[in-house]
Amino acid sequence: MPKELNYWLTTVQMPTPPAQPLPETTDVAVIGAGFTGLSAARSLAKRGAKVVVLESETTGWGASSRNGGMVLPGLKLGVNELISKYGRELTQRMYAASLDTINCVERIVNEENIACDFARTGHLEVACKQSHFDDYARQVEVISRDFHHEMKIVPRQDLRSEIGSDIYYGGMVSEVSVGLNPARYVAGLGAAVMRAGAQICEHTTLQSVHPESRNGSPGFRLQTSRGNFWARNVLVGTSGYTGAATRKLQMKIIPIGSFIITTEVLSEAVARELIPRNRQIYDSKNYIYYYRLTPDHRMLFGGRAAFFPETGQTVRKSAELLRRGMIEVFPQLRDTKVEHVWGGTLDFCFDIMPHAGQIDGVYFSVGYAGHGVAMASWQGRKMAEWIADGKTDNPFAEIKFPGAPLGLYNGKPWFLPFAGAYYKMLDWIS
Ligand SMILES: Cc1cc2nc3c(=O)[nH]c(=O)nc-3n(C[C@H](O)[C@H](O)[C@H](O)COP(=O)(O)OP(=O)(O)OC[C@H]3O[C@@H](n4cnc5c(N)ncnc54)[C@H](O)[C@@H]3O)c2cc1C
Repeated sequence: MPKELNYWLTTVQMPTPPAQPLPETTDVAVIGAGFTGLSAARSLAKRGAKVVVLESETTGWGASSRNGGMVLPGLKLGVNELISKYGRELTQRMYAASLDTINCVERIVNEENIACDFARTGHLEVACKQSHFDDYARQVEVISRDFHHEMKIVPRQDLRSEIGSDIYYGGMVSEVSVGLNPARYVAGLGAAVMRAGAQICEHTTLQSVHPESRNGSPGFRLQTSRGNFWARNVLVGTSGYTGAATRKLQMKIIPIGSFIITTEVLSEAVARELIPRNRQIYDSKNYIYYYRLTPDHRMLFGGRAAFFPETGQTVRKSAELLRRGMIEVFPQLRDTKVEHVWGGTLDFCFDIMPHAGQIDGVYFSVGYAGHGVAMASWQGRKMAEWIADGKTDNPFAEIKFPGAPLGLYNGKPWFLPFAGAYYKMLDWIS
């Protein structure tokens, strides 16, 4: 049995913010010390705002230190579906934003000098069925014509130049994507936030937030596990870990588990055979597999082995399911030792779109659906601009934020087993 341990955390020393008392008042209270919260706090503090970040656990504890480190453009939904839902103009703005998310990560990494193995390796999406591959051709044409982003189709007979596997029907490459070490990135972001003058309060849980004016100025009273304070503005960036303190937001988010294994270090020759161009790779299923090489040449292989968020049980179950999945893709790894397994929770909204906005005056940004490394960093910056300037051009703030169909959701995802079965069935038939 592999160690139940996030491999990335063995490569980094996370920052340890000094334990300080909560202030009496602040300009902005940010909830959650992941990419969203830290990126926002960094931008706000650099503009001179007094910022306090509340984090229930420790800096980067959530999905931000646990993910695959794939910095990807695009949104979860295909471009043709986006155009039919939102029209061409708004989709163009959303797509341009999604490309800018990657540049945003690059700017942060460069400006803050974060050693996180940032590398523009590009990504490869591989088709599990002929029909999926046929759809790639339709998408690439629209993406080039309407969004000025060139992607390359890789037919089945050429796929060996991209991946040492014969199970796929072809692929689609974008050169703009990046691979990085997410734990080092979030650690660097945390250190940057503190350098910029913001306060990170670890082990401090927001329990409730209520509107309250102070000296004639509108704002909020925050009740936390370490006492109360007042903030002019509040931004919630709690993603898949959103809880009852922000109940209306919680009821619009489905927390979904995602799990990862990493192998022992592979030889240079094996690593090059499996992923010759060091791409970030994911497949076309709903029960997705995503995989890449780590900078020290381990195979990192992830997937939605269970739909439920991480527990000792789902993590252990995932280790074996993912090992089997990895061997289906790469039979060459049959005798390779799996050394680490871990899981985390990401957030899906009911329309599988990112959303930003305000509920009862409290700002939020959520719904990254597995594309959060880049999108959360970008949204954090955008939310900071919105709070500081009082206006925004964020296209994800313009779209309707739906709740559960028929309102049948109280924040506890009772339907996950059904959703899991439904998506497994879709993978069979579509
Ligand atoms: C296994 C896995 C693999 C993934 N792989 C990729 C990938 O390769 N590429 C990609 O783009 N995305 C990936 N993602 C998604 C990505 O990691 C997330 O979308 C992103 O990290 C979300 O960042 P965040 O800051 O919004 O939330 P998080 O990093 O989850 O942080 C939220 C924080 O809020 C805190 N919190 C919650 N409630 C409270 C409260 N009441 N008071 C105080 N603090 C609170 C939590 O403790 C947590 O630390 C993956 C996710 C997982 C789980």
